[in-house]
Amino acid sequence: MQFRRTNTAVRALIRWGRVNGREFPWRTTDSAYLLSLAEVLLRKTRAEAVTAVYKQLIHYYPTPHELLVAPDVELSGIVGHLGLPIERLRQLRIVAVHFATTERSGPPPLGPYATSAVSLSQGGFGAPVDGNIARLMGRVLGLRLDRGELRKNRAVQSAVSKLFDVAVHRGLGREAFHALLDVAASHCTRSKPSCSTCPLKPQCHWAKENHSVPRRSRSEARSRARVEKSLERSPPVNPWRLSGHRLLP
Ligand code: SF4
Repeated sequence: MQFRRTNTAVRALIRWGRVNGREFPWRTTDSAYLLSLAEVLLRKTRAEAVTAVYKQLIHYYPTPHELLVAPDVELSGIVGHLGLPIERLRQLRIVAVHFATTERSGPPPLGPYATSAVSLSQGGFGAPVDGNIARLMGRVLGLRLDRGELRKNRAVQSAVSKLFDVAVHRGLGREAFHALLDVAASHCTRSKPSCSTCPLKPQCHWAKENHSVPRRSRSEARSRARVEKSLERSPPVNPWRLSGHRLLP
């Protein structure tokens, strides 16, 4: 299951993103090291809350070599208030070791979402699916949101993959990724999606089912009109006779 018109969806996302997209400092870098730091901070955290911490982190540790020798207590002081301190520290160590001890320029092993996100942000292929993207895509495709974990749903993963493949082939992978994240955060919220201004509304199942009265097809309308006309012409029918019952005197 996919978008009915993937090219149209990509175009709509790009157009919307160029006017309404959010700006974050990590969205302008190609460095796999800096993008990986951002992904560690963004984990289960609102992007707006991450900006100041990201700036501080790259100010003190602009290279992986500096991060590699940073004491835990210093790192905790910077990233601790975002939550998940132990997990974030562990992942920052993975990032430091990955880039400082080898000449690698690709993403470190931080899991499928971060790997895809860094790859797309560097102009490569990827299909990152987090909770917000999964919810949006589940609604677009008309899937039941209460069934299983949508992030792992194959239809969701395949639709996201197709969307970004098309975007990357047109040199728009990074822009499409940012726009999809922003539409998911600003429009396709958990409790109250704002479908009327969503760029994906024309292709979205959920918007059609929940926000408009389904229109009758022409043939349905014609046959209904025929039935109504014939009812007008016919004399009223006694239901008792039709069903074989006798009328009581
Ligand atoms: S149209 Fe509504 S439900 Fe569909 S993706 Fe946009 S905000 Fe979400």
